[in-house]
Amino acid sequence: MLERLLRYADKQLHFGELVTGVRDRRHWSHVPTAEVVKAVLEMFFARLGSLNALEKLNHLSSWKNLPAHSVSADTIGRVVEVLDSSSLRASQKLLYSCMKKNKQLVAPLHGLIALALDGHESHCTYNQRCVGCLDRDIDGKIQYYHRNVTAQLVFDNFSFVVDMEEQRPGEGELSVAKRLYERVLRDYPRAFDVVLGDALYTNAPFINMILDSGKHVITVLKDERTNIYQQADFAFANCEPSLSFEYGSKSFTCRDEEDFRMPDVSRALRIVKSEESTTFKSQLDSSLHVRTNTWMWITSLPPIRAGTRAVHALGHSRWSIENEGFNELTNRWHSDHIYKHSPGAIRNFFLLCMIAHNIFQCYYKRALKPALQRALTQALVSLQVAADLSGNRPRCHSP
Ligand SMILES: [Zn+2]
Repeated sequence: MLERLLRYADKQLHFGELVTGVRDRRHWSHVPTAEVVKAVLEMFFARLGSLNALEKLNHLSSWKNLPAHSVSADTIGRVVEVLDSSSLRASQKLLYSCMKKNKQLVAPLHGLIALALDGHESHCTYNQRCVGCLDRDIDGKIQYYHRNVTAQLVFDNFSFVVDMEEQRPGEGELSVAKRLYERVLRDYPRAFDVVLGDALYTNAPFINMILDSGKHVITVLKDERTNIYQQADFAFANCEPSLSFEYGSKSFTCRDEEDFRMPDVSRALRIVKSEESTTFKSQLDSSLHVRTNTWMWITSLPPIRAGTRAVHALGHSRWSIENEGFNELTNRWHSDHIYKHSPGAIRNFFLLCMIAHNIFQCYYKRALKPALQRALTQALVSLQVAADLSGNRPRCHSP
């Protein structure tokens, strides 16, 4: 499976160029950078979550007289720490260009490609700190942690994780998001139409920055104390729904109004409200219950560019992004694992995890036939990659 994945990545995604393009700051090296980068990418493909696990698998492979990486866990940690992050970002950009050129990134039905921004805490500890650690007081004890803001592009059935920026001591998430957005806009100027953010991003300077860059914005409107929320609530109480539809066990009633003024925002905004009810059966007595939920999104998208249903879909795509993108990176791809505790190593391992995730997703969703996807989950494909790393070559169906 690993060979097939690498062959596909080499042919379709310029894997060789992508790996050899990464540079580091070592003056003298006995292990080529490309070998270390390839080993780390393979560790992420196999979802091992540990450099020591990778080293053990490689030992297994060498016992069987099979070719294996001879790079130790310590060397990998040391080299990744001094990798040039901008060259990793350039490799990510090359990957995006290849996928775009090969038509592997398809826009959703409404035609708008979103860039979703979200902040995440990667880990916390009481025992170790580095110069990049943030700190907080927990019951009189100082806890150290790292946070970052991640950006991903949302396509049809595919999320391309683009870039990340770490939060520095004394900074808020919005300042980090601003720095990240400026870089993403510079590197991927035509890759997206609209920026998605949660309630924290319903902030006048942030919205103005997006509008000034020529993009549209959708954020969650949640704070009931704000003037604009109260204005919207009043307006929606006196208007008819503009759209009602059902999807599975859920029914949606949407209201859509324009010309809301948010203090300090340079132009009028539109608000879409969705009242959602889900019918479910109680496990206790099989009786039917209804759970209701309300969402409000504030957007600069005019109705001619995105109808109510499109804004609703984009607003809700944050959930799938949260589950399939950010949470998957953390829970299944071990992106938040501290392979080496230093700001450079944490950033570079995260960037490598993003590259591996994008390659793996592209291989799984675009190269494997649907029948094979049904038979093999992504976790199973990763297990086969791990088996290949250990020198076992399990029989599997051809893609
Ligand atoms: Zn730290």
